[in-house]
Amino acid sequence: VSERKKMIIGNWKMFKNSAQASADFSELADLIVAKNLNLEVGIAAPSVFLAELARKTQNSVTLFAQNAHWANEGAFTGEVSPAMLKSIRVNGSLVAHSERRQMFAESNETAGKRVGALIRAGMKAVLCIGETLTERENGDLKKVLKTQLEVALNASGISSANEFIGSDPSSPLLSIAYEPVWAIGTGKAASPVEAQEAHAFIREVLASYFNPETSSRLQILYGGSVKLNNVSDYMACPDVDGALVGGASLVAKDFAELCEKC
Ligand code: PEP
Repeated sequence: VSERKKMIIGNWKMFKNSAQASADFSELADLIVAKNLNLEVGIAAPSVFLAELARKTQNSVTLFAQNAHWANEGAFTGEVSPAMLKSIRVNGSLVAHSERRQMFAESNETAGKRVGALIRAGMKAVLCIGETLTERENGDLKKVLKTQLEVALNASGISSANEFIGSDPSSPLLSIAYEPVWAIGTGKAASPVEAQEAHAFIREVLASYFNPETSSRLQILYGGSVKLNNVSDYMACPDVDGALVGGASLVAKDFAELCEKC
């Protein structure tokens, strides 16, 4: 098994104003540097704040957008492209967060096109997948996860496994966030056993899609009501390589403390 670096990403969703975003980001970056943690810490911020935040990172915090289009430019009113994000030194983007899937008609195909564009730009793509409560209760967990992964990877238009890893094998360009829809923002987290089962299955799907070596390198993050008091239980699972954290990432001091627990 290859050594996978842990990664924790805070998803600020549509919260904060410019002054708050700047102050919180600076505070977090300082705390992360001071704590000297052996993990990658990221923030996925609203796109209007990214240029300002990019000037502050000094590489202590990896900066993510919350979405990115698949074209570099074009008549796509309201969208932001990977090339634009790259030009302000954003490192990558979340793709197909369940809120995008549920409220903004994101499909596995469009998710895959976004992943492909980001990877081709040499940027990180965090592909979010996860089942609804009904799908889980109907016994469709594996079918749903497999479809979400395979359709998106096919739609990315990238066929070489190495391209998904990129030039730094310790920090692969593609990562997967397993976020059961019923656990996001609900306070009802998946148990560590449920998370590990899903992550092990995702790694199995990645191994047959790519190859076992590539699969063992890719980071799989758990997301869904991760808090200070449960994060270490997830991190103890062999196939959980980090977390995507919504609510508990909004206060810099608390999020830094959560990162320290990993
Ligand atoms: C998320 O935004 O991806 C998320 C998991 O939210 P929360 O941690 O608030 O459940």
